[in-house]
Amino acid sequence: MTNVILFFTLCSIDHKLLYMQQTCIHCGDIYRGRTDKKYCSSSCRSSYHNKVNYKDLFPLKKINNLLKNNYKILNQLTYKNKPVKTSKENLVNAGFNFNYFTNTFPAKNGQTYFFCYDRGYLPLDNGLYSIVVKRELMN
Ligand SMILES: [Zn+2]
Repeated sequence: MTNVILFFTLCSIDHKLLYMQQTCIHCGDIYRGRTDKKYCSSSCRSSYHNKVNYKDLFPLKKINNLLKNNYKILNQLTYKNKPVKTSKENLVNAGFNFNYFTNTFPAKNGQTYFFCYDRGYLPLDNGLYSIVVKRELMN
């Protein structure tokens, strides 16, 4: 009999603990819910995870956008899929960022091609840049 009373007392304590008043970690609203619940609603849970993911992925997105922008510029210059020459000034004025590229490829003259995906550039001795499509180099 004592064991049964003790069992019900523990259950009722557990029940109270499981449905406590809590604060949503996303919006700060007070709600009653299970102690293992962190959000007042599924929309707060989703918003919280989106915010965390955005923060984690922000550097990736920023760099991907820089690479995409570089690619667009190189792609516009090589739209006929043929190499062209342009100046550094033209590239910089178009918004090209020389710090970001996806890979390099050795040139025959000992220089290095810098690629953004399949579009790349080779600095030439005269201050110009040769803008190329990678498949031309592979063939
Ligand atoms: Zn909330």
